[in-house]
Parts: sequence; structure tokens; C-alpha cells
Amino acid sequence: MARLQEHEGKALFKIAKMPIPQGAVAKTPAEARQIAEKIGKPVVVKVQIWAGGRGKAGGVKFADTPEEAEKIAATLLGMTIKGLLVEAVLVEEKLDIAKEYYAGIIVNAQADARCPVVMFSTEGGMDIESVPADKIAMMNVDVIRGFKIYDALNLANKVKVPSAHITQVARLILGLYETFKNYGARLIEINPMVVTKEGKVLAGDCRISIDDSSVIRHPELGIKVARESGTSPTELDKIAWWVEEKDLRGTCYFAEMNNQIQGECFGTIGYHGMGGGAMLGVDGLNKQGLRVPDFADTSGNPPASKVYRAAKLVFSQPGIDGYMLGGFMAANQEQWHHAHGIVKALREELPKRPGFPVMLLLAGNKEKESLEILREGTKDLNARIRIYGGERVYDTVGLAAEMKEMVLEYKKERKG
Ligand code: GDP
Ligand code: MN
Repeated sequence: MARLQEHEGKALFKIAKMPIPQGAVAKTPAEARQIAEKIGKPVVVKVQIWAGGRGKAGGVKFADTPEEAEKIAATLLGMTIKGLLVEAVLVEEKLDIAKEYYAGIIVNAQADARCPVVMFSTEGGMDIESVPADKIAMMNVDVIRGFKIYDALNLANKVKVPSAHITQVARLILGLYETFKNYGARLIEINPMVVTKEGKVLAGDCRISIDDSSVIRHPELGIKVARESGTSPTELDKIAWWVEEKDLRGTCYFAEMNNQIQGECFGTIGYHGMGGGAMLGVDGLNKQGLRVPDFADTSGNPPASKVYRAAKLVFSQPGIDGYMLGGFMAANQEQWHHAHGIVKALREELPKRPGFPVMLLLAGNKEKESLEILREGTKDLNARIRIYGGERVYDTVGLAAEMKEMVLEYKKERKG
């Protein structure tokens, strides 16, 4: 799922004519001050990151004057909150909150439902998971029939929203459904839906995840990589997504990570996993003091061309001291497609790197033939290449230890 930031989601709310607080996004403290000046009353300054619970984490602050807004923005911008770098803040009029409600829609994937489920609760502001079930009104939506204003009124009525503002609440729920539908969302939430002391109802916060498959129909959203991720996509991440978009057979997953390890670091291993157990390989390497700067995964029977491209992405990372193919799961796909793709990548990359450490673990259907392709295809290359099959899939620790040994030799040799 591709997640939008609060301000991007609120821009969609605006299109649906849903009331949102007056405000704008700032990337510098000076911009924050200008926005606060324009608003002309106390403001709230909110970090724009792909995570909820910002309030509790210190990412939502109040300012009475534009100068104060500038100061707060100066401290928030550049900070790391929930492991994410703050590159922008949303400066909005501070609402006088009388009551916080919750509205959300997710896809109910149960076999007897398979439809959007609209949820509304008068207990907003907190995690919806911690609200007792009898305080949440829900409706499974028949997408052919659609969701109507009277459905929204019914939901609000079920949890006893006062008649004074039930119409405003229902309009917001309806707008939420329209936005969910129009953009092919998997999840959409207003938490809190704010009732102000003057009796106005607005969307105080917004969370939206767009279904990966809808992203292609909505270039206007500017989503560069149709995958939920904690951080903004890097150049290599974007290339990997380009590979994925062009060919839907199997996956070419690739994400650069900020994988730091505790204690001494002996080297950096470009990692190429396959299937479910692949993450174990990363743990194993980390435990041996080897850093892994990416997680790549080719699963679900990709063609050799896709495997080749994933391997090339792994090799494109600067400063790697080794390459590991971690097929820690006996897959039922025919493994020779992997073998062919890997051999092609290695034959291009290894001549540039004499003595380079390479660990290839490949297990599953057509394993014998695939290992043969790997051996034949790499036997004349000047590199440290170890090739293993199914007998080693449980030996994460041993493989990582061998990798470390090779990396140490390689580094020593290069130092001369
Ligand atoms: P989240 O923690 O990431 O979900 O960020 P929210 O935007 O939901 O803000 C967290 C909490 O801050 C809200 O539930 C409110 O209690 C509070 N808050 C946010 N905006 C305002 C505001 O304009 N006025 C007041 N009084 N409180 C606010
Ligand atoms: Mn919230």
C-alpha cells in the first residue's frame, strides 16, 4: 500500500468538499511563520511523516504567535521522529476542540464480506483498536448499491451523535467514502474528527493508504513507488519499482535500508533474498557483524530477466564487500530462472571485482539443475564463490560465518 502524508490526504478531502482546518505545508521555519501570520490566530504545527501517533511522539505542537510557530518549526524540521526524518510540517489553525470522533474505512477481506467496511465512533483521538467494540458503529458496504447519506446518518445515530451536528458528521463520513472509492484506497481514516466549541465539524487528521494496484490510475497523486515504506524512495528504489511496473511476473522487491549493527562492523553485504525465510539471512549476517544495506526479494516465480535486474540493483550499491543470495526457503518455483539471472549478473559484475565474496544459496524445485547452472556459469570467474543447496537452508549462522571469513580475506587482500 502506498501511504499519503496528512497534508496530501487533506488535499483530497478538500476536493471532496470536506471541511479541513485552514493551513499549509512548510519546509522551512520562515515558511511556517508566514503561514501562521496568514492564519492570524494560534496554530498547531504537525510533523509530516508516514506514521501515526505523532502527538504522543512529540510531533504535534502548539504556537500562539507566528514567531513561536517559526521556533517550533525550527526544532521539528530535521528531527527524527519514530525513526523518520521530518522534512515538512503542516501549520494549521488551532481548533478549539469540544469533542473528538473517529471515522474510518478499511477493506473487509473476510470471504463472506470482501467489501469496504465503514466505521464510526464517538471515541476519537485515540487508537481505534483500544475503543470497545460496542462504541463503534460499522457497516459493510455493497459496492454496487453504494454508500448513501442516510447510511452515514444511521451510523452516527447508532452511537448517539447529537442532532445539532449529526448532518455535518454524516457529510464527512460520506466524503470519506467517496474519497476512499475515487482513489482506490485500502484504508482511510479521520482521527480525530473534531467538533469545535462553536459546533463546527472538521477533519482534524487524515490517514490514507492507496491500494498498490490503483496507483497507476492516479498519476495526480505523485506516488513514485506503489509500496508502503517507512521512508521516501531512493534512486535505486525507484529503478526497482520501474522494473516491477514493466513486468508483473513474480516480484522484484528492492529497498535500501538504514541497517546499522551493534558493535564492530566487518563489512557490508549486498543482500538478495528469495521467499519467506529470506529475512533470516539478514539476521544471520548482522549477528556476524556484517551490515546489510538493502533488502531485495525475488519470489513468486519471476523470469530470469527480473532476477538479473534485482541482482544488478544489489550490486549497484556503493561500498559493498560481498553479495549473498539467500534462498532460505525451499520454493516450489523452478529455480533455474533464478540461476540464469544470477549467472548473467555475476558475469557482468565480478570481472570488475577480483576476489569478491559471493554466497549463493538456492533451494527448491529443480535444485540440482539450478546449482549446476550456477557452478558452470561462474567456474571461470576470479572470485570467492560458494554455492549451496537445500542441505544448508537451516544453517543461517554457519553461512553468515563463512561469509564473514571471505569478507575478511577479501578486505585484507585489497589492502595489500
Ligand atoms: P497523530 O497523533 O499522528 O494521530 O496526530 P493528530 O493530528 O491526530 O494529533 C494528535 C492529537 O493532537 C489530537 O488527537 C488532538 O488531541 C491534538 N490536536 C491536534 N490538532 C489540534 C488542534 O487544532 N487543537 C487542539 N486543541 N488539539 C489538537
Ligand atoms: Mn490522528
